[in-house]
Amino acid sequence: MKTIDKIYINGAFVTPHGQEMFDLINPATNQLIGQVRLGDETDAQLAIASAKEAFKTFSLSSKETRIQYLQQLYDALYKRIDDLTAATIEEYGAPVSRAKASTEMALDAFLHAQEVLADFEFERTAGRSRVRMEPLGVVGIITPWNANANFICGKLATAISAGCTAVIKPSEMSALQTQIVLEAFHEAGLPAGIYNVVNGLGNVVGAELTRHPDVAKISFTGSTAVGKTIARGAVDTMKRVTLELGGKSPNIILDDADFTKAIPMAVAAGFMNNGQACIAGTRLLVPETRLDEAKALLKEAVANAKVGDPADDSTVIGPMVSVKQYERVQSYIQSGIEQGAEVLAGGPGHPEGLEAGNFVKPTVFANVTPDMKIAREEIFGPVISVLTYKTEEEAIAMANDTTYGLAAYVSGTNEERARKVAEQIVAGRVMVNSLQHDPMAPFGGFKQSGIGREYGTFGLEEYVEPKTIIRG
Ligand code: NAD
Repeated sequence: MKTIDKIYINGAFVTPHGQEMFDLINPATNQLIGQVRLGDETDAQLAIASAKEAFKTFSLSSKETRIQYLQQLYDALYKRIDDLTAATIEEYGAPVSRAKASTEMALDAFLHAQEVLADFEFERTAGRSRVRMEPLGVVGIITPWNANANFICGKLATAISAGCTAVIKPSEMSALQTQIVLEAFHEAGLPAGIYNVVNGLGNVVGAELTRHPDVAKISFTGSTAVGKTIARGAVDTMKRVTLELGGKSPNIILDDADFTKAIPMAVAAGFMNNGQACIAGTRLLVPETRLDEAKALLKEAVANAKVGDPADDSTVIGPMVSVKQYERVQSYIQSGIEQGAEVLAGGPGHPEGLEAGNFVKPTVFANVTPDMKIAREEIFGPVISVLTYKTEEEAIAMANDTTYGLAAYVSGTNEERARKVAEQIVAGRVMVNSLQHDPMAPFGGFKQSGIGREYGTFGLEEYVEPKTIIRG
């Protein structure tokens, strides 16, 4: 049982003014594993004041200094790889391979940021003027529970690259991961105030960051509903926002695809991160003429996706993060059944023998029509909806028939044709015959999947503001 009773302000671990305790639960067992003391508005205000003070000098720092700080953070976190991976398994329920990949991504963020920063032009010319790309100021960073450490590291690395200081409000459900990251950061020995961390609830600490006039920008990853609340709140002080929100990503399997590769890949895309991934490929669009073949391969691939103890190396799908999330996924499975979809694999309830944790049966629905809830809404669990199409044009129209636009997938043997299809999909990232991430390329959503982009040069541009200096 761990107790986290400190937050981090102005280079020191301090006791928060807020007194509320929040339970940390292992989602594989539903046992209490710790408690975190939550900060409140007063704590957020102190953290903002610290970041504001630090901005005065840090905003003037050289590229070399920032690169050095990024390396120091990397080196310090590197020593805690195993601890962070273990916490991600225990607190979030990520299977071992996923937890390791997630830790690696968190670390790599500091290396990629250095690469981007080295080539970034802070001084430019336009017309006959000088344009200085100036750091925005204090950034409020708000993260979700499904990859908390990753988002803390990615967003902070970009803020530091730009010369911004930060107040981080991590997911309140991820305090063990936050604590390890924070201990490592402290060890790195950066000047006080560059980053501050306040554990707390979204509608308390997150809301204070959103409303406070000394915060210049909010960088948020989370649900579309909360993203809209933040965008509405931020406009009062004209904060810049980067919002990475939800998705209902389509996966088009073209009729010339090699189904023996494309279908297992589609199942991996749908079930990634226990199905709790914003980019999960949850709408599988299959040519009508090859549906039977797809169904047989889907059943086989789902049978191979072992559900169970996330600490077991052979596990592919761990538990949902909370009882609430378990129930949410169950309600979608129920709605699929009620609306007449065919349960091809999985279904309601816990898998046998896994009743104690928040485990769900990885589920695939066939005979899904575009009007069904399971075809339209983000479920955030291992549930794939299979829809059929007759022509390529229809497949593209179905893929784009969504309020979201975060990611999409296309599989096909003819690369040129698959690429042309990819170009017609309205989404921020389309993966062709691949599930690979590209950390140097922009990431973010069209439509209600968000505003702005992260990663690479595009990500860094969002933390600076151009200032034109015209000479007479
Ligand atoms: P969430 O929106 O409930 O919470 C995210 C964060 O926002 C948490 O830290 C929470 O405390 C905070 N928050 C809640 N209310 C707030 C408010 N009123 N003001 C300010 N902050 C507030 O999301 P979640 O349940 O933690 O994560 C799941 C969601 O995140 C899914 O919808 C998923 O698609 C999305 N997500 C998106 C991406 C992406 O990159 N696009 C990545 C991961 C997750």
